Amino acid sequence: MLTRLSGYILTLFVVWLTLPVVQSSNINIDTPSGGIASAHSLAAQERSPEAVDAEISGFQVPVSEQNPNQNPQTVQVSDPEANYSFGGELSLGVKIQSPTPIKKVVVFLQAAGNQPAIQGQTILNKNGQYIYIHDLNKEPLRAFAKINYWYGILLENGEIATSQIFSFYYEDNRYTWQTLEFKPFRLHWYEGNLSFAQEIFNTAWDGWVKAKKILPIFPPERVEIYVYASAREVQSTLQMGSQNWVAGHADPDLGVIAVSLPPGPEQRLEMARQIPHELMHIMMYKKLGDAYNKIPIWLNEGLASAVELYPDPNYSLLMQTAYQKKGLLPIANLCQSFPKDASNALLAYAESASFLSFIYQQYGTAGIESLLEQYSNGQSCERGFQNALGHPITKVEQNWLRDSFETSPALSGLENLIPWAAIMAVSLFTSLVVGIRGLIINRRNSQVVYENQ
Ligand SMILES: [Zn+2]
Repeated sequence: MLTRLSGYILTLFVVWLTLPVVQSSNINIDTPSGGIASAHSLAAQERSPEAVDAEISGFQVPVSEQNPNQNPQTVQVSDPEANYSFGGELSLGVKIQSPTPIKKVVVFLQAAGNQPAIQGQTILNKNGQYIYIHDLNKEPLRAFAKINYWYGILLENGEIATSQIFSFYYEDNRYTWQTLEFKPFRLHWYEGNLSFAQEIFNTAWDGWVKAKKILPIFPPERVEIYVYASAREVQSTLQMGSQNWVAGHADPDLGVIAVSLPPGPEQRLEMARQIPHELMHIMMYKKLGDAYNKIPIWLNEGLASAVELYPDPNYSLLMQTAYQKKGLLPIANLCQSFPKDASNALLAYAESASFLSFIYQQYGTAGIESLLEQYSNGQSCERGFQNALGHPITKVEQNWLRDSFETSPALSGLENLIPWAAIMAVSLFTSLVVGIRGLIINRRNSQVVYENQ
């Protein structure tokens, strides 16, 4: 009987612990202080919808009914500490005081973006801290995300307390970042001088200006831009595995861009390509919210590629070669995903950019807006296209191919990309007037304020 009861309580305990809910009736939380500056509490309304659903469907027995003879206990959780080496080890520590002996303390970690929570067992050390060590190599956390964590505390008398939610920002701390802000952009880089940083701001600004010519679109309040000095470094950060052709990456819901800009003759061109491209993804997410994920890949990547200030010069050659070999990828095959292999993936980007530019030339901003509206409303790739532009994809695709290759084979699809190259030429050789006032540079251990006169 005792075993069955214990099992029942344990089941409730597990369900209960997965709920990031503060039980104000039986727990007092000290305001996090001193130990870690970035830790702070979150309001209850920030709980994910999944957590609320779980609360309703998974835990229907109020805590007081589990142990009706027990009085509410006062448990104090204080001095949270979070230390990590990116991709290495995370150490969480906390002090917990309770009038009733503590049987077990479990910690839950959850990255921003409704990622599934990770659960871990703490150990009590000789300093009275409950410590949890997490292997970030084996079980990575989402890079550049705010990580929420909270504690579930099982008392010897069977009562359960859940702590307030604490958090830390999981940044790549393997590098000594320099940080410079020109709202809405905040730049982090570790190789290059101040004029390199200013060029990045100018490029981001130019990318936004170009994007606004296609769509009324704005960046979110803050865009974090991390610039790595090699593709290998950004890949190791983002754990992109076999997709080693990826140079840049955006996490649109986090408002984070990570790009690789190796020093050398190609650096400015890569900058002009990657920064506006990734920024466009961020701005698209700002415009569409969660519907961003319903947009066909050819449209999403087409728009991002269309705002590049310097389109990849290989695109036109790739398309021309594929066209001659009858190896072009049908646009309808690029709705859900892009090919995994490097050359076909590049071809998919080239086609998407060219096709999008053709649509823009033919149907203008209204056409693009109409496509986004249809797809945001959940229409399929085919149906949404038909509803928005009045023709099936294949029909417009035929027109695009005729326009790109048959009327002027020598141009081989380059035509649609030329206006963008022209803008790039202007952009590269004119310096954009950005009154950099109040720019803050924040080196690791010192803060210096730079102001242009
Ligand atoms: Zn992209």
